[in-house]
Amino acid sequence: MGRKVMKELEKVRRYIYNCRKCGVCVSKVTGGVPYVCPVKESTAGFDHFSSRGKTIIAQGLLEGEIEPSQELAEVIFSCTLCGNCMTQCGSINQDTGEALVDTNKIVEAMRADFLENHPEWIDPAYESVLHSTRQYNNPWGLPRTAKEKWAKKMKLKNARKEPAPVLLFIGCTMASSQELSPRARKAAEIMGKASVDFAILGKDEPCCGSVQKRIGDLELASEMMEENVNLFNSLGCETIVTLCAGCANMLKNDYRETKEKLKPRVLHIVEFLPKLITEEKLQLVSKNSLKVSYHDPCHLGRHMGVYDEPRAILDALPGVDVIERPATKENTICCGAGGGMRIFASGSLAEKIGQTTVQSAIEVGAEALVTACPFCEMNLEAAARNPKNQIPVYDIIDLVYEALK
Ligand code: SF4
Ligand code: SF4
Repeated sequence: MGRKVMKELEKVRRYIYNCRKCGVCVSKVTGGVPYVCPVKESTAGFDHFSSRGKTIIAQGLLEGEIEPSQELAEVIFSCTLCGNCMTQCGSINQDTGEALVDTNKIVEAMRADFLENHPEWIDPAYESVLHSTRQYNNPWGLPRTAKEKWAKKMKLKNARKEPAPVLLFIGCTMASSQELSPRARKAAEIMGKASVDFAILGKDEPCCGSVQKRIGDLELASEMMEENVNLFNSLGCETIVTLCAGCANMLKNDYRETKEKLKPRVLHIVEFLPKLITEEKLQLVSKNSLKVSYHDPCHLGRHMGVYDEPRAILDALPGVDVIERPATKENTICCGAGGGMRIFASGSLAEKIGQTTVQSAIEVGAEALVTACPFCEMNLEAAARNPKNQIPVYDIIDLVYEALK
């Protein structure tokens, strides 16, 4: 492949050379941070899984000192893009707040260059995701109609025909899955109970482009973003409320790169619900007492800084007690599903990482794990089932719905 064709890596060279190779991201251990990199911790522990290792690899590729190979492709795709290394590194531009070593951008750039130059080395599951996106505008190999099944007989407004101030954006992962899509229905019912004037896009809901960008198809993701901005701006809504942490982070942060700017503000549902609760538009009553551990999805927590809102919702639920794990909020250890890892190599490494999240919740005495992202839920659910049903996993929407009068 050679250095001259590492075109995406060239664009992020400043992050690579900002890394001091100090190793804080490799082995920082404090009370709240048992370890930094979930991938390094759940594998043989080689440095190349950490941020420093990836930065050294990136530099070697740029300078032509390291030859690309299939083994290297596997390393580059073994990263959840959780951002814990960036948090623990703590090197930021004091004026802009921008990370000086943006590992996520370095990894995405390496993935993009490998995908373009050596598609034969990439896990075939990624090609299926990209092929399905081009065919159905959905990464999960399902036709567009699959995304509106959850809304059958609900008589919801279609945003294209009946504009509303709020667009409820479900996201492909939740909308397409039989197991996860009941959350979409519950979210719509919660909005209805609070008399929120909202609409959905049903089968016309586009994929936000997050999965495609994380696995390195930056060109496809860019096309999707530009198209989607035009669609969202044309709807006339003021707010887009997403149910997926990945969609929220993509729409709020990555869409800043688009030529046309996104006009509606973007909120994850955990940012939207607290106001409805404070204004008593949602009447919440006690069902059963439950000790829960809230798992901060990386996209929502570290990437968007949303920590207090989900806890405020849980605090407002009568009977629900939140128990924090030692590594929480910005120090949370990723569940393993991010960065396309749930897809990579059949998700086995993602699930192994998820088992440590399950264990950490059990160790603090939680009776349930709660999260706010379908990727986390899917992976934690699989991890909790293996070897046996250890702890139930809920989306926060489940608990709010259960508590409604
Ligand atoms: S990424 Fe940050 S913490 Fe890790 S080696 Fe580089 S400078 Fe140090
Ligand atoms: S983003 Fe997460 S998984 Fe990737 S190198 Fe950093 S800590 Fe490890």
